[in-house]
This record gives sequence, C-alpha cells and structure tokens, in this order.
Amino acid sequence: MYFDYASTTPTDPLVIQAMTPYFFEKFGNAASPHRFGQEASSALEASRENVARFLGAHPQEIIFNSGATEGNNHAISGIVYRQMEKGEHIIVSAIEHHSVFEPIEHLRKDGFKVTVIGVDQWGQIDPQRIKDAITSETILIAALHASNEIGTIEPIKDIGHIARQKHIPFLVDACQTVGHLPININDLNIDCLSFSAHKFYGPKGMGALYVRKGTPISPLLYGGDQERGFRASTVNVAGAVGVAKAIELCRASMDKDAKQQTMWRDYLIEHITKNIAGVTINGHRQQRLPNNAHFSFEGVDGQMLLMQLDMVGIAASMGSACTAGSLEPSRVLKAIGLSDQLAKGSLRITLGRWTKQEDIDYLIEQLSTLIKRLRR
Ligand code: PMP
Repeated sequence: MYFDYASTTPTDPLVIQAMTPYFFEKFGNAASPHRFGQEASSALEASRENVARFLGAHPQEIIFNSGATEGNNHAISGIVYRQMEKGEHIIVSAIEHHSVFEPIEHLRKDGFKVTVIGVDQWGQIDPQRIKDAITSETILIAALHASNEIGTIEPIKDIGHIARQKHIPFLVDACQTVGHLPININDLNIDCLSFSAHKFYGPKGMGALYVRKGTPISPLLYGGDQERGFRASTVNVAGAVGVAKAIELCRASMDKDAKQQTMWRDYLIEHITKNIAGVTINGHRQQRLPNNAHFSFEGVDGQMLLMQLDMVGIAASMGSACTAGSLEPSRVLKAIGLSDQLAKGSLRITLGRWTKQEDIDYLIEQLSTLIKRLRR
C-alpha cells in the first residue's frame, strides 16, 4: 500500500497513452523544418499553451526542463549572476527543499550574503520578516509554496507582494502544489516557478520553469536555441505532452481530489491521535496540503518504524526522499522547533489518486500495533 505520493506518483495510464505516439510515429525533432519536425513542434507548442493556461502565464514564459531541481538551480544561478552589479544579497526561507538550499549554500561560499528566514512552530514564514530582511543589495527572494515534508502552505501572495513592491525577483518552488492546488502566477505575484510532473501523475525527469517576461535571468544550458535559448538541447516532446496531459487531468479532478484527500487526511490524523499516545502532528492544521499528514512519535526510531511498516506492506517516508539516507535530523523539523529525538521519530503519510479507505484503516491498525511494539 503506497502512502508516499509526495515523493513521487505513478504515471496515469492516460498520460502514457498521450505520450506514446511521440516515441515512434511522431518522433520528429521539434527544431526540424520538415513535416516530422513540424508535427513535433505543434505538439510541443500546444503542450506549452496548456501549461501556461493552467498557471495564468503566457506560453513564451514556460521553459520545459527536467523538473524542479533543474528549475530551482536555473532560476537561482541565472538570476543571481545576471544581477551581480546590483547586489549580492539573497533571502531564502529555512524550510526550502535541498534543490534551493544547496545552490544558495554554494553561492554563500562564493561570497554572496544570505539571510535565512525562520518559520513559526507550524512551519509558516512571516512575510514581515522577509520585508525586514530586504536591503538595497537584495537580488533574489526564494520561498517554497508548500513544504514537501510537513505540508504547510506558505503565504506566497503576501511575500510576492513585498518582492513586487521592491522590484526583487521572487522564486517559488511549487513542486508539491502544481496539479494539486489552483495557482495563478499573477494573483500570487510570482516571477519564477518550478515544478516536476512526476508529483502529479506525469512522467519522471520532466517539468518546467515559469519565468515572468522581463525577469533578469541567464540561460541554463548554452548550445542550440531551443526553449528560446534558455535551455539548449533537443526538447523531450513526449515528456512535454505528458506534462500537459497530467495537468489537464489534474485540472479536471482537482477540487474533487482535494476534498476527498482532506477528508481522509483528517480522518487519519484523528484516529492516530486517538489510538496512539505521545504523538505530535507537525505542520499547520488548516493551511496544509490536502494529502499530507506528518507525525512525530515519542520514543520511536523513525527508520525502524519505516522498515517495520514495509514488512507489513506499507510504504511511507520520514520526510524528504532526497535525504532518506541521511542520519541527520531534518532541517525542516529543526526549524519548527522539534528536538532531535522527536525529529528522528517522524513519519510522513501522503495520499493520492489511488488511495482507498480500507488502506487507511489498515495503516491506522498497523501503526498502533507497531508503535506499541517498538516502544516496548
Ligand atoms: N522541490 C520540492 C518541494 C520537492 O518536493 C522536490 C522533490 N522531492 C523537488 C523540489 C525536486 O524535484 P525533482 O527531484 O523532481 O527534481
């Protein structure tokens, strides 16, 4: 039973069906002028339009890429190096994904000044703290839309408003929200937005970076003039078709899925807290992703718990799959004030399109038994 939808989702069979013709019959290079190329290019541009429409963007503002890690790295280095004459100060939240935090750490080592904005006990950023941190040297503000670990949704609109007033480019990692929550880049005042299709039933290794027209940003890869010169390399047309199809399917079922998952998430939280003593719910109670429940259990080793769950047929995680091998307690859990011991006893349950009520009941039953056993 799969409870790790935040780390990745299965590709929807309808997405695979939409992609399939672009591997053999319609295999052309989208940059070729002949009819094979034109066929690929029209599919690519139609996909770009669909993605843009979903975000409220212009198609020319969408750069197809390999996903959020690439998008975040591109936006960070691309914006920072283009604006070095203006300043060397970056503002970032304390609960960013590693694909934002690590490139910024590298820049810090290269001499850039970085202000890390802490969060409250629910994992929320206070926009006022971002406003207070801005100097005349600030050239980038980065904040994620919703935490991949604890599920808290951030006040992006307010942060974006501050960035807009000060004319500072604003990057939002929306890897956990695209396809799950409605997003309009104009309402939210976003300049750059990254996402990966595999988080919403699309193909792995495919995603896009939205870049608002006029944002100062350099290309990521130099070579051909694909993706308007911002990302050279022959475009993965089948992948782009998959991204667009996955978005189309999510758009159609987003409200229904969110309602269903919120109901199950709250049912799960209610029963876990009722059945098991010494449990903390991490993340915001209302402003949280519909599919995320995150717990810490006193006196339990999270790695052991995951192994035991796996043995009874349940796949879950402690937090981020990207650092699953690390023995260090999660940076995000420390940022919300959890002790090392509680942080190491945590469990993330994430639901999705194919979760069933009976799976959740089985999870609750097994978790209660296993935690008692581990504590003994
Ligand atoms: N940002 C967030 C918030 C994520 O959850 C992830 C995936 N765990 C990424 C970025 C990176 O995505 P990918 O591995 O697809 O590049």
